[in-house]
Amino acid sequence: MRYSVRCLVTAVLLLFSELNYAQDQAAQFNHGKRVVIIMMDGFGMSYFKDAPMPYLKAMIAKGFFKQVNALMPTVTNANNTSICTGTFPEVNGISGNFFLNDKGEEEYMEDKHLVLAPTIFQKLKAYNIKSALVSSKKKSTTLLPEGTDLVLSPETADSAWISKIGKPASIYSAEVNYWSMQAGIYLLKNREDIRCLYIHTTDYPMHTWAPTDSNSINHLANIDNYIHQISEAAPDATILITADHDVNHKSRCVDIQKALLLQNVNIKLALSPEKDKYLKHHRGFGGAAYVYLNSAKDVQQVKSALSKIKGIETILTRAGAAKKYHLPVTRIGDLVVLGDSTTVFGDLESQPEEDLPATYRSHGSVYEIKVPLIILNAVKLPPASYFNYNKDLAAWLMDKKY
Ligand SMILES: [Zn+2]
Repeated sequence: MRYSVRCLVTAVLLLFSELNYAQDQAAQFNHGKRVVIIMMDGFGMSYFKDAPMPYLKAMIAKGFFKQVNALMPTVTNANNTSICTGTFPEVNGISGNFFLNDKGEEEYMEDKHLVLAPTIFQKLKAYNIKSALVSSKKKSTTLLPEGTDLVLSPETADSAWISKIGKPASIYSAEVNYWSMQAGIYLLKNREDIRCLYIHTTDYPMHTWAPTDSNSINHLANIDNYIHQISEAAPDATILITADHDVNHKSRCVDIQKALLLQNVNIKLALSPEKDKYLKHHRGFGGAAYVYLNSAKDVQQVKSALSKIKGIETILTRAGAAKKYHLPVTRIGDLVVLGDSTTVFGDLESQPEEDLPATYRSHGSVYEIKVPLIILNAVKLPPASYFNYNKDLAAWLMDKKY
């Protein structure tokens, strides 16, 4: 009897100490200040450099800025998941927008069960800290909702949100990003219990306009204004900004499977990890491709045929690509192919290659790897050498040293 009472007392004490620990952690998280993470889709260095963003640039003078690398392939899901989990794709498992699953079927990476590392929201949840995810693209709200207390996308907003923020614009517009920013500002003003807000915009404007186009300048000037409003709505908040990739003009698309057939070489499949359900952005073409072989014996023959295709700059084996770019071996091709600065890969209807219009813009290759990493209003930051990739943006927040 006495023994069981002692056990009960110990269990209760343990529970209290755990609760106290969680409360301590909650109070200590970012020195009690809120965190706003803005993942600006497509806001690579070419856009940042030319951006007329006077507020952001003035704040950077008092904050932190570093040009860092995005992760390969430079597509949204792989980078967004890496930023949200603070890990490489080899840990979080997200190798692109599409991959070939164990059943040999093409699968769209929009299911949270494919994410193999905890999101920042899950880590905060362990300390009873609430988070919200607002994304212009619905796919992020199904891929990265784990641990959030609220997920919101203009694509799926219900009537209650429409009455608060207004009717969202089309996903194929710059205005849809303004809706997401306004929703974020609403949460900062009305839901102070949410201590971590993650806003993901869409890169439709970057796919549509070059950095110097007046429409792009207007889009980024508006975003600058919203960043200003965010810091006014939450003066305590630390604001963290990075991007998943840059976006560049591409002049040619190569259908790798058809181009190999011209050399009488057969493969199982060439898959652009940038292939997307948002086809209007870039028709599913991207600067990287996962090449799946019919047989492992074909590797040398296929490599040699690939090297003769104009526009292919790099051919890596599965193991080589996984090592060089920290990719998950089971979710990439037998070969990983990277394009030169103006070539993208994808499925074409009849021809092995196609010239693309002067307005065509896309990403996926190493030429879209340079992105800004910006931190404003932080109490204590790691040294600049800590930040090498966009995935490092928020990882330090979970480290008690900072
Ligand atoms: Zn993107």
